[in-house]
Amino acid sequence: MSNSPPLQGVIIPVTPFQQNCSLVWCAATKRAAVVDPGGELDRILAAAEKQGVVIEKVLVTHGHLDHAGAAAELAAQLGIPIEGPQREDAFWIERIAEQGKRYGMDHCRPFTPDRWLEDGDQVTIGAETLSVHHCPGHTPGHVVLHHPASRLAFVGDVLLRGSIGRTDFPRGDHAALIRSITTKLWPLGNDVTFVPGHGPLSTFGQERLANPFVADAVLGG
Ligand SMILES: [Zn+2]
Repeated sequence: MSNSPPLQGVIIPVTPFQQNCSLVWCAATKRAAVVDPGGELDRILAAAEKQGVVIEKVLVTHGHLDHAGAAAELAAQLGIPIEGPQREDAFWIERIAEQGKRYGMDHCRPFTPDRWLEDGDQVTIGAETLSVHHCPGHTPGHVVLHHPASRLAFVGDVLLRGSIGRTDFPRGDHAALIRSITTKLWPLGNDVTFVPGHGPLSTFGQERLANPFVADAVLGG
C-alpha cells in the first residue's frame, strides 16, 4: 500500500501581492489544475514541468486580479478551460485589465469562464473530485474548493491565518463573509487544512480557536 496522497500540490506565490497560486494534481493520472493564476505564468509552467504533470484546467476562486489576472493567458496558451468563479464576480473579471494597469500588471486580461461554478457543484482534477462552496463576502461570486478525502480546502481570500478577507471593495459585505465562514467552512471540519490566498496555511480548527475575527469565542459561538 502506498501512503502517497491522492491529491498533491505546490504553492507558487505570484504577483506583487504574493498570492498563493496552487498547482494541484491527481497522483494517479498526473493531471493538474492551476488554482488562481494571478500572474508569472513562466514560474507556474516551470513548476508543472518539474513535477511532470499536465495542466488540464484553470480554477478561479474569485475575480480579483492577483487571483485571475493570468487565467485567460494560461487557458489560451494551453488550450484548456477555465472553471469558476461564481457568476456574481463577472463585474470584477470585466474590469481586470484596467485594474491590472493600475498595479503595473499588464498581462491581466478579461475572460468568460467556460464554466461558472455554483454552490454544490463538483470540479475534477484528474480522477479526483472537489466540492464547490459559494462563499460571498470578500467578493459576491467567491467560491471555495474542498477535497474531502485530503481534508484540504482552497479558500482564496475568504479566510486567512489569523485574519479574514477584506470587505472594503465594491460589493464587499462583512456580514456575508462572516456567514460564509461560519456556515460554509466550519461545517467542513476542524481538521481541514486550508490554503489561503495569501500567507501561511492553517486549519479551520485553529482559526476557530485563535482568529481575532471569527474565533468561536469572538463570535459567541
Ligand atoms: Zn481578493
